[in-house]
Amino acid sequence: MKPLIDTHGRRIRYVRVSITDRCNLRCSYCMPPSGIEWIPHEQIMRYEEYLRIVRVCSLRGVDKVRVTGGEPLVRKGVTDFIQSVGEIEGIRDLSLTTNGLLLSSMARDLKTAGLNRLNISLDTLDRDKFIHITGVDAFDRVIAGIQAAVDAKFQPVKINVVALRGFNDDEIPSFAGLTSLYDVEVRFIELMPMGCATRYGDGEVIASPEIRSIIEERYGQLEEVKYDHGPARVYRIRGAQGRIGLIGAMSEQSFCSRCNRIRITANGYLRPCLFSEREIDLLTPMRNGISDSELETLIEQGVKSKKLNHGFCSGSSSASRQGCPTLMNTVGG
Ligand code: SAM
Repeated sequence: MKPLIDTHGRRIRYVRVSITDRCNLRCSYCMPPSGIEWIPHEQIMRYEEYLRIVRVCSLRGVDKVRVTGGEPLVRKGVTDFIQSVGEIEGIRDLSLTTNGLLLSSMARDLKTAGLNRLNISLDTLDRDKFIHITGVDAFDRVIAGIQAAVDAKFQPVKINVVALRGFNDDEIPSFAGLTSLYDVEVRFIELMPMGCATRYGDGEVIASPEIRSIIEERYGQLEEVKYDHGPARVYRIRGAQGRIGLIGAMSEQSFCSRCNRIRITANGYLRPCLFSEREIDLLTPMRNGISDSELETLIEQGVKSKKLNHGFCSGSSSASRQGCPTLMNTVGG
C-alpha cells in the first residue's frame, strides 16, 4: 500500500466528510441568522459517492473517518451511512460531530451501527445564553443528547466549546469542572476566522494558553495526558475522571505540522485544509464516469496541494483576521 503523503512529509490518514450544509441551529459565529443559500440537492453528494471516496482513500492508508456538516444528524439515512462506512475494510476509527439536538433518539442506533466516537458541540451551560448564541431554544435537548451518548457508552464523549470572551469566558471553569464529575473530554476551541466568525474581533478570541491558565487558577496545575495524535493538547485536572483538550488552531505554532487530514465538502470537493480556498472537484468527474484509479489521482493531487501552514495566526492584524470567507457549515467543522 502506497500511503498518501503530502509535499511536507505529513501522512494523511484521516478524512472528514461533510454530509450536508443544512443545520438546525444558527450559531452566530458560524451561520448568518437570515440563513444562507443552500447547496441545491442535486449538487449534494449521494451516500454512495462518499463511500466510493472513502473506499479509495482507505486503499491508500486512510483509517479514520469523521462525519460532520452542517448538522449531520439532519440528513436522512445517516445511521445506515455510518454502518456502510464502518464496513469499509481498513476503517478503524469512525466518529461524528453533532450539535446534539437530535441525538437523544439516535445515539443508541448510531452506536449499534458502528460509530466509535462522538463530539457534541455546546458553548454554554446557561439556557438563555444558549438561545442567544444558537438562535434556538434547545438547551435541554442537547443535554439529553449528551446523556444519551454517555448511556450508549460512547468512549470518549467529547464536548466542543468555542471560547468567546464576553460570552462564555466566565464558564470556562464550570466546563472544565465537568471532567471531575463525568468521564468526558471537554475541548476548548479557539475561534477561527472563517465565514461569520470574521465579524468577531481579536479581543473576543481566547487563546489556549489563556484558557489553560484560567483553568489552572481554579483547579491547580493540569497534568498533561499522553498525546493521542488529534488536534488537541490533552490535560487532566488532578484526580478527575475526564480530560480537557485545548485546540490551539490559531495560537499553537506546531498545530499544522501534526495535520493528518483532508476534508470532503457536502458538494463533493476535496479541501486540503479547513482554510484553503483551493478545492478539487471530485463530484463532477465521478458523475462523468472516471475510474477509481483516476479518482485516486485526483485525491493524491489534493493531498499534494496541502500547504505547510493554514496562514492565520493569533495576534495577527485585523487585516489577516479578515480571514477565510468560506462558511464552516459547507466545509464541515
Ligand atoms: N453541526 C455540528 C456541530 O455543531 O458540532 C457539526 C458542524 S459544526 C461546523 C462543527 C464545530 O465547528 C462546532 O463545534 C462549531 O462550534 C465549530 N465551529 C464553527 N465555526 C467555528 C469557528 N469559526 N471557529 C471555531 N470553531 C467553529
